[in-house]
Amino acid sequence: MNQAPYSVQGDVAVITMSSPPVNGLGLGLRRGIVEGMNQALADPAIRAIVLTGAGKAFSGGADIREFNTPQASAEPSLGTVIDLIEGATKPVIAAVHSVAMGGGLELALGCHFRVASPGAQIALPEVKLGVLPGAGGTQRLPRVVPFTMALNMIVSGQAVPSEKFKGTRLFDAIIEGDLLGGAVTFARQALAEGRGLPRVRDLKVDFPMAEPFLQFARNTVATVARNYPAPRKCVEAVAASVTMSFDEGIRFEHQCFMELVETPESKALRHVFFGERAASKIPDVPDSTPVRPIASAAVIGAGTMGGGIAMNFANAGIAVKMLEVRQDALDRGLAVIRRNYESSAKKGRIKPEDVERRMGLITPTLSYDEIGSADIVVEAVFEDMPVKEAVFRKLDEVMKPGAILASNTSTLDVNQIAAFTRRPQDVIGTHFFSPANVMRLLEIVRGEHTGKDVLATTLQLARRIGKLGVVSGVCDGFIGNRMIEQYSRQAAYLLEEGASPQQVDRAVEKWGFAMGPFRMADLAGNDVGWYIRKRRYLERPDMLYPKVADKVCELGRFGQKTGAGYYRYEAGKRDAIPDPVIDQLITDHRAELGITARRITDDEIIHRLVFALVNEGARILEEGIALRASDIDMIYLTGYGFPVHRGGPMLYADICGLYNVVNRMKGFAALGHGDTDFWTPAPLLARLAAEGKGFNG
Ligand code: NAD
Repeated sequence: MNQAPYSVQGDVAVITMSSPPVNGLGLGLRRGIVEGMNQALADPAIRAIVLTGAGKAFSGGADIREFNTPQASAEPSLGTVIDLIEGATKPVIAAVHSVAMGGGLELALGCHFRVASPGAQIALPEVKLGVLPGAGGTQRLPRVVPFTMALNMIVSGQAVPSEKFKGTRLFDAIIEGDLLGGAVTFARQALAEGRGLPRVRDLKVDFPMAEPFLQFARNTVATVARNYPAPRKCVEAVAASVTMSFDEGIRFEHQCFMELVETPESKALRHVFFGERAASKIPDVPDSTPVRPIASAAVIGAGTMGGGIAMNFANAGIAVKMLEVRQDALDRGLAVIRRNYESSAKKGRIKPEDVERRMGLITPTLSYDEIGSADIVVEAVFEDMPVKEAVFRKLDEVMKPGAILASNTSTLDVNQIAAFTRRPQDVIGTHFFSPANVMRLLEIVRGEHTGKDVLATTLQLARRIGKLGVVSGVCDGFIGNRMIEQYSRQAAYLLEEGASPQQVDRAVEKWGFAMGPFRMADLAGNDVGWYIRKRRYLERPDMLYPKVADKVCELGRFGQKTGAGYYRYEAGKRDAIPDPVIDQLITDHRAELGITARRITDDEIIHRLVFALVNEGARILEEGIALRASDIDMIYLTGYGFPVHRGGPMLYADICGLYNVVNRMKGFAALGHGDTDFWTPAPLLARLAAEGKGFNG
């Protein structure tokens, strides 16, 4: 099918880009434009050409489905298409509406004239994928809009509505109403007025104060975007529009683009872009799977998690009942929610009237009789199987047929929970992260009998409440916490061998994590891990745990909530203050083990912790608990503060090279401390490393 249908209106040809959903400039469309241009140029009856887009966009830019395929760079490239248009012997008018982004805007900039509907979103968003506009955008945009505006748009990637460009050379006219008719009229007028074939490349950038402004931009970018090279390169490429000729500038832009595409940061950002989209694709649950309507919800438990989960529903306009066993617990839960909303309103994050509106959507109750009609119920009671059993047996009794029964358990067996009901197909795990009203991750646990429609509905609901849903199979800890356990074990070994909590945290945070392991443990509560370890000591006597963490707990140092953990905390403050008590505890512990402390580098700290995640991630992938490596990465980026510019543990391992990862692990094993089995590469990791492959292909 021709993706750029050609039509004629008297002496004006119209080429309409038609590649849903957003007229992405894939190979088929690029070829279609060239064919349309050839036809128009060869026809003596045609005096001008209008280029526009069908449906919801002029063009959204590159076709993301083509990314990482040979088609992306196959000729005619976008640069070739733009050169053909710019060099045409008949005027080409871009008729821009709705969206002109990235390559779409660059294409319009190659035209002789541009007209636009008001309200069109205009952007060069390439920086968000760690690259820069690679088809002339950095050279042409500063020639048609104020230099500072062009630089801001290119460095930030933000969209600007078309009417804001009034008075600039980007648009020759803003057309209200019939855009195509207006563009054809404009074309005839331009011919009648003898306006010729103006090319953006021939314009000069008019900004005498460029250098001081560029210096200011370089400084700003260096602090705001310190982990990313693309914004810096954007500044340099835009600078070239002032300091170089157009052709030199284009060559420089291309060189910058090629350098950026290969950076780990760009790989990471593209990985996130695709990984987030891939997460909702479940191989045996097609997009056509019917979903259950969700108009109302219930939450069991008004504690830390229950309250936050109820807020998610209320924020999305979904009425929610919140059930507790005792009135005081209910009152406390509601008070916390109200405080949260009031503080958001004070900070201007929500409107003052939203506080009452959202509170009004949350109905407290002590009675199961009142929740039976909810479309979904999320259980968030104590992490204790007998308590969960009682709740699920009750839910099975009272909930209407077809209601989804979800558990927020972080470690318990969702299949066992489902078996407490006579409707295991309706049971699913929805593992929210704390604070549940803030954290974007929702780990969705698919039980053995979970219905496909229940899974599809939950994934859709995740989007509705602003979460990224990632599916996990059933196992202890699911994807995220199963991996973090190995990371925490390794962190504790580092203390035994010579590091201090603050050294470990500092190294990890410098590398880009939101929080190091010990500050994180103090925040989450050290008793949570202690409780899990006590269970492990019985279930997995073969698995060695460093005992230093237990000793911290034995002192009652559960973290921020008790005013002390690996650090000490002053009342009402969250600053982690190093504590000599902990230094002494660690020193005594080493003496007991007969260990002489050694100096441990930051590099060793980072790689022992991250490769601990990677090795367990490989097992999770091989067991099919995670569907794809990118799902693991999305969980770590959205739920565990893993640095986004590194793309998640699995992509980081791929970028290091799995052979190198395995080799490094051998070195860690040779250190001879702790559980030496720890560093036996997972079979999948060993196999992929031997084959020279990566987790992500
Ligand atoms: P919490 O102790 O803060 O709250 C639990 C609430 O449940 C309490 O208010 C309690 O009164 C109520 N409750 C207990 N039994 C009940 C029953 N039979 N019926 C109704 N209400 C009952 O605990 P939490 O931290 O909110 O954890 C709840 C669940 O969420 C647990 O399964 C936990 O593993 C999981 N989870 C917690 C976190 C976290 O960081 N806190 C993160 C993810 C998942």
